[in-house]
Amino acid sequence: MAATRNSHNHMPTPRGLPRAWRAATWLAAFAGLAISSVPMPEATWRLAPSPNWDQRAGGMRPDTVVIHSTAASGLWLNVRYLRNPESQVSSHFVIGKEGQIVQLVGLGRRAWHAGVSEMDGMRDVNSRSVGIELVNLNDGRDPYPEAQVRSAAALIRWMRQIYDIPDENIVTHAEVARPPGRKNDPAGFNLRALRRRSRPADE
Ligand SMILES: [Zn+2]
Repeated sequence: MAATRNSHNHMPTPRGLPRAWRAATWLAAFAGLAISSVPMPEATWRLAPSPNWDQRAGGMRPDTVVIHSTAASGLWLNVRYLRNPESQVSSHFVIGKEGQIVQLVGLGRRAWHAGVSEMDGMRDVNSRSVGIELVNLNDGRDPYPEAQVRSAAALIRWMRQIYDIPDENIVTHAEVARPPGRKNDPAGFNLRALRRRSRPADE
């Protein structure tokens, strides 16, 4: 299988593609998915497995993406926290401000990011979703740089080739957290633009 470079996808690191393909092999085995024919985003993609996961209820296939912000700066500080067994939290991905993608949990597994939550009358949003943490202070002023948004869009676009994830199922943590108002992340993030940019036909 030849790796095709997506010329429309101006990811920052040329070294990213071979790394991504190594990740694809690893991920396919990890998640039990036949995904090796789907080109992955041409971003720096690193694996940093977290022990904080369990099985999706009923073996659900994800149909939802929950966007978070970390409310703390520093990609690797956040990754370390999400890998600490004592934190009891995780997400599938963390995306740094320079667009680096770090994967902590396989897509076939339930990461622990949404907490008490509800969507379309269903609790346990974690069982149906993929969690993406964006490194950001979550103060409503800290920007989400273009490189970070581009990586998030590319990552979701890639997942949408594997899973059926409609626009309205790309949601913020604030929307699904219960009780309403418990969470406000990702503050200041343009979700509408992310939905548009992550459509498979886009870019
Ligand atoms: Zn959150």
